Amino acid sequence: MLVDVHNHFSYYQEDIDSALKDIHENGVLMVAVSTDFSSYNDTMELAKRSELILPAFGIHPMVAHDHMDHLAIIRRTANEALMLGEVGLDRMWTKNDSHHTYQETLLETFLEVAQKHDMILILHVAGAEGKALSMLENFSIRKAIIHDYYGSIDLVEKIIDTNLYLAFDRSYLKSYESEVKGWRERLQIVTMVPEDLFLIETDGPNKPPRRMPYEALQIVAERIAELRGTTTEEIAAESSSNFLRLIKDDTRLSKYANILKQS
Ligand SMILES: [Zn+2]
Repeated sequence: MLVDVHNHFSYYQEDIDSALKDIHENGVLMVAVSTDFSSYNDTMELAKRSELILPAFGIHPMVAHDHMDHLAIIRRTANEALMLGEVGLDRMWTKNDSHHTYQETLLETFLEVAQKHDMILILHVAGAEGKALSMLENFSIRKAIIHDYYGSIDLVEKIIDTNLYLAFDRSYLKSYESEVKGWRERLQIVTMVPEDLFLIETDGPNKPPRRMPYEALQIVAERIAELRGTTTEEIAAESSSNFLRLIKDDTRLSKYANILKQS
């Protein structure tokens, strides 16, 4: 069984039936993140249709400023969720600096819940890596996946030392060279991460050509395999076993751990 540790499954919209068929035919467990209440509700509905959808509750940092009056309901919803994501901080695409404080307040709400229940977080930390890591430390967070990392090499070492997981997506493909700042230097991060701490993800469904989940994840696995000098099968298998290790002691996630163990 393959695992896509970060995708926005509800965004498949009119292609949702084909996407569900695709993950069942090919055996892909989807960690389906959400970015607001509406995408979380849609994802929860999808999880009723398929045991291969693991729904995560998150409010994306870029919409934090719209949610300052909703912190109580966010806390309640998070308390009952299986996993938390996509949450974090963003200083890469957030144009308005005054939004940073809102993002920190929102992230603290999620970190409090994660700390209380020892829950897994899926984090967006673009442009705010150092700040995000120090907040994780303040709340003694031990289980987190750093998604789509854009930070410095030094901080990668810190992430590795604290045993947090790094998830790699399509932005390491050659076609992203012109789009991603420091793309070439960033490639070495893929080779730095020990084999027990890396994961693969699509952040899908990606922009056109919109691919089905299995193919999108295979493309990432192939590219990461090429960069790490191994095979696509090896990358897929290591990533799945890393994800299983991350979730196996989490009682909220035993159903998903069993699916992975049996495959
Ligand atoms: Zn995402």
